[in-house]
Amino acid sequence: MYAELAQAREHWRYRPPEDVLAGRTILVTGAGDGIGRCAARTFAAYGANVVLLGRSQEKLEAVFDTIKSQTNTDPTIVPCDLEIATAQAYGELNDQVLDHYERLDGLLHNASILGPRVPVEFYDAASWQRVMRINVEAAFLLTQALLPALRRPADSSVVFTSSSVGRVGRAYWGAYAASKFAVEGFAQVLADELGDEGRIRVTTLNPGATRTTMRATAYPGEDPMTVPMPEARMDLYLYLLGPAARGRKELQWDAKDWTP
Ligand code: NDP
Repeated sequence: MYAELAQAREHWRYRPPEDVLAGRTILVTGAGDGIGRCAARTFAAYGANVVLLGRSQEKLEAVFDTIKSQTNTDPTIVPCDLEIATAQAYGELNDQVLDHYERLDGLLHNASILGPRVPVEFYDAASWQRVMRINVEAAFLLTQALLPALRRPADSSVVFTSSSVGRVGRAYWGAYAASKFAVEGFAQVLADELGDEGRIRVTTLNPGATRTTMRATAYPGEDPMTVPMPEARMDLYLYLLGPAARGRKELQWDAKDWTP
């Protein structure tokens, strides 16, 4: 386990056994940077085979190399731009996952873009569409395509990354806030459809303020050292992507107030 993770773990609410994800395969979108990179490294540190999806091959390779050097897991890289990827490409990804791992135990929808932070009056329509395409439509297409792999295990988990502005709208958050509301709505529909099967758990997760490039872009005046690192959030990610949350019915989760 790498040093920052071991250090953050001291303050976690949930401290899983170090093999809690052994034998599980988890796909993480936006795995090359920020929270997604940390989640991918953390899941691997706890035994998961991680499918690293992101748009920068170079960043994904760096995460892949780190995981290979620090764990005995079997990661895979999937270079993919969520803005332009097609339903067919996601269908092929489902086949690749089944060929290589025979199952998918977890899907973390983490990638998203912030878009402009301007009043609605000045919001550019092309930017609005781009935010919706990456943050919402891609999550729908990817989820739909991966359902066959997600249905293989008895208990798999789909986690959508939300935001406080996806639960209460605020001025100047434009398409980003609307996209997170849409993700919350999509997750509710999916959870209701899949609930009776009892195999795939669907949740939304608000990580709260976390030290990443997106946070620094949204709050340029903030001292990053006052913001928790992604590692501080990983207890909730491990909880929701692992077996411990099995049977929990809550859809919305928030890193600042949850109990294992
Ligand atoms: P970052 O901007 O640091 O990282 C986002 C990741 O998504 C990057 O790896 C990025 O790739 C990837 N990505 C963006 N667009 C695409 C695309 N078109 N195709 C593939 N991958 C793409 O964000 P965070 O780590 O801060 O955020 C992670 C999640 O957490 C997001 O959903 C965000 O909304 C949410 N969140 C974050 C908070 C925070 O304080 N940080 C607070 C609340 C919610 P690349 O590196 O190539 O740009």
